[in-house]
Amino acid sequence: MAKIYIIDVTNRDGVQTSRICLSKLQKTLINIYLNKFGIFQSEFGFPFTNHEINYLNANLELAEAGVISPMRLSGWLRAIPQDVEIAFKNIPRLKHLNLSISTSKQMIVYKFKKKLDEEGVIKVMQSAVKLAREKGAESIGVNAEDASRTDLNYLIEFSLAAKSAGADRIRYCDTLGYDSPFSIYERVKKLAEKIKMPIELHCHNDLGMAVANSLAGAKAVVDSGFDAYINTCINGIGERAGNADLVSVVLAIKYSQDIENRYKLDERIKLKWAWKVCKYASYALGIPIPINQPGIGANAFAHESGIHADGALKNRRNYELYDFEELGRGEPEVIETGRQITVGEYSGIKGFRNVYERLAIKFKDEKEAEKVLELVRYANVHNQKPLVEEELRFIAEYPQIAQKIFTMTP
Ligand SMILES: [Zn+2]
Repeated sequence: MAKIYIIDVTNRDGVQTSRICLSKLQKTLINIYLNKFGIFQSEFGFPFTNHEINYLNANLELAEAGVISPMRLSGWLRAIPQDVEIAFKNIPRLKHLNLSISTSKQMIVYKFKKKLDEEGVIKVMQSAVKLAREKGAESIGVNAEDASRTDLNYLIEFSLAAKSAGADRIRYCDTLGYDSPFSIYERVKKLAEKIKMPIELHCHNDLGMAVANSLAGAKAVVDSGFDAYINTCINGIGERAGNADLVSVVLAIKYSQDIENRYKLDERIKLKWAWKVCKYASYALGIPIPINQPGIGANAFAHESGIHADGALKNRRNYELYDFEELGRGEPEVIETGRQITVGEYSGIKGFRNVYERLAIKFKDEKEAEKVLELVRYANVHNQKPLVEEELRFIAEYPQIAQKIFTMTP
């Protein structure tokens, strides 16, 4: 039976969003966490953007070293040959990518103006796909931007053209969050039956239906006999009202009526990492987790009113659909309330040593300690907030990679 896989786009759609930023170190840690979570693919950035080059290359080195593996790292580009050319020049190790171009009448007429028509869009997309293959791309997704507002017959024609040019998947983008679970099911079902290939669901939350639409779309793809790939963002961030929330999507596939047990989720997904991944992303982004966020919010397993508290205490299934332990919750967290030494951009060796001793990390000599201290200073310049244990450990373990990530030459 066909399966549902997760492609997380936090490091692409998430960070391109207004007022949302991650440093390259934070993006790297997110990739490491997503890999532990068992995500199929992380869309890790923009290969044609100069300030991403060192970060992208460094992360592909981590992939080759087995630190980020088996998760795929994929770049996002416009589906034009110029972007493909630049991408492979900047990032020669790039193996996976998604090529994006608008397909709706609205965008073809009012965005491309007179530069491209329907036929032109197909032509330029095909030449980008072919060039990417020539350059060594192992997997290519073609994104139909604004697919939900695209004439279905044209969307089918566009997708078949992408397939014949060598694309592996089509990304159905509900760019404006216009679909409902009913419309996306019908449209994607017809699309999948005609094009006979795996489809990605990329849903936005403008009408509050991103998770529901992702599920309905994935159901349509699987019902047609093909693998579905749901695009998610950690904590539901993303353009405007956000993308489909990662943990909600996983919970919905595992526990919603008529989906659980009938539709198969990629068995590599380890929900146990949910708590850590979401907490780290929240800290890195500087965005608190809403109290009512599914699975992760402070109230997700809290009960107060008489009937609810009594019921939950008698049997957790009275008021809890799934267990907090499954999400990696329930472990005590230690918070230091006395003296604290932190390391930052102006730290010296004594404070630095104190912090790393508490992490039980040893350096072979003074020179190595000085080098890691210097990197930690730079990390703090990038992050502009106290470094967390995972970041400090990463820098000590992979100093060469860290140095590359911190290096930018405008
Ligand atoms: Zn998007």
